[in-house]
Amino acid sequence: MSQKQVRTRYAPSPTGSMHIGNLRSALYEYLVAKSQGGVFVLRIEDTDQKRQVEGALQKIYDTLKLAGIQHDEGPDVGGNYGPYVQSERKHLYLAYAKQLVESKHAYYCFCDKERLDSLRQSQEHEGAKYDRHCLGLSEREIKENLDSGMPYVIRQKMPTEGSVTYHDAVFGEITVPSSELEDQILVKSDGFPTYNFANVVDDHLMEITHVVRGSEYVSSTPKYILLYEAFGWDVPVFIHLPLITKEGGRKMSKREGDASFVDLIDMGYLPEAIVNYVALLGWSPRDNQEIFSLKELEEVFDIKGISKSPSTFDFEKLNWMNREYIRKMDLDAFHAKAIEEYKKASLTETTADLHKVSQLLRERIEFFTQIPENVDFLVKMPDNYDLNMYNHKKMKTSTENSVEFLEASYQSLAQLMDWNFQSIEKALMDTVETLGVKNGQILWPVRTAISGKQMTPGGAFEIADILGKEETLSRLQISMDRLKTFNENQ
Ligand code: GLU
Repeated sequence: MSQKQVRTRYAPSPTGSMHIGNLRSALYEYLVAKSQGGVFVLRIEDTDQKRQVEGALQKIYDTLKLAGIQHDEGPDVGGNYGPYVQSERKHLYLAYAKQLVESKHAYYCFCDKERLDSLRQSQEHEGAKYDRHCLGLSEREIKENLDSGMPYVIRQKMPTEGSVTYHDAVFGEITVPSSELEDQILVKSDGFPTYNFANVVDDHLMEITHVVRGSEYVSSTPKYILLYEAFGWDVPVFIHLPLITKEGGRKMSKREGDASFVDLIDMGYLPEAIVNYVALLGWSPRDNQEIFSLKELEEVFDIKGISKSPSTFDFEKLNWMNREYIRKMDLDAFHAKAIEEYKKASLTETTADLHKVSQLLRERIEFFTQIPENVDFLVKMPDNYDLNMYNHKKMKTSTENSVEFLEASYQSLAQLMDWNFQSIEKALMDTVETLGVKNGQILWPVRTAISGKQMTPGGAFEIADILGKEETLSRLQISMDRLKTFNENQ
């Protein structure tokens, strides 16, 4: 028998920006399909018209594109199973719901809001359920109500006895007693289906073989199983994903302002690093490899590697990963991206050779937004930086001896005709030798004197090279003057 083609779908509701849980669902859907040569579908679930957010659909497209998670079928690219937007499929659902009414798996309910509200109030306990009032209506009453145009919903009729069991690829066997299942609404009075109904009808019509989604759906899935059974349809493989928590164990949530994909991008993380990190939030490869391109993930991803225990979103790990990706970047690509940050810091080509700056930063930063704070000293020497930096035990330097070291360095640098890394290095190392001191005794004061900072990307040679001769000498002079005044006043 030939194997059915694997088809998965990412089915977002356009209600805001894509948070990390959404991105992970999309990614895993994509990987489940691609790792098995399958098709990945994008379906927009917009049946809850009140929750729609302007612009949210565009954000979904933009995020998927940026993340490199490309769908094979969807509203924008088409396909043989369209339309791919649920509001455009509205006409389909009612017919299927009526079919269930016919087969006695569903029924019309005419209860108005007042009745349902008072019912809810009278039932004090949590999880109060619809009391099946309309299940008692006669055929004639139903017909009269329908003929008179009375608003109605269609409810699923749950079994009253026994239990429903299904197999989840991650959580194993899940059993729920039927008594816990409410006669949920399938079609609302505005004619739109509920998510609970539409997802089943569409997954069937779109021939979805694997349903991947958050674990909040584990407990509703038995209701869907009953729908599949009522229609006599094949049940897809269910893959519910573990919770994503933040440090301390609380659930990551949009409502609590936790970072969305776009927020992370704005914070300076690379899309590839975020995708790689998110891939590992709930899935582990067979070995200990951690850095994966999307292409590699498509090859090695395996449903068996998905874990059921919650995974913690760990910014430190993401930072590490981002740094790994930055280091691997091609210098031109790094530079093109870094330029935006140089602009923010007012660092221009006239102040420094920006390519050289990029070369240094690529080895140093964890994310791009750290660039301005790393290059500000190139634009302008910090006024009044702390002269105590010269008092360095390990380097054997002090505010006293640094004056002499800086003067000697100034002399040899001032003589240079060619100003480049090698010539600067040679001049300063010659100074070390002439004075008979340790390397650090020259390099530490020089770097401090021309940067005014405790930490800089690159050492004395690199920074002097980037600043140029005139600026380097001028900074050395300013620092020596400050040191002298300081020492005199001690
Ligand atoms: N529209 C649902 C959501 O955004 C989809 C859940 C599913 O994948 O079935 O949560």
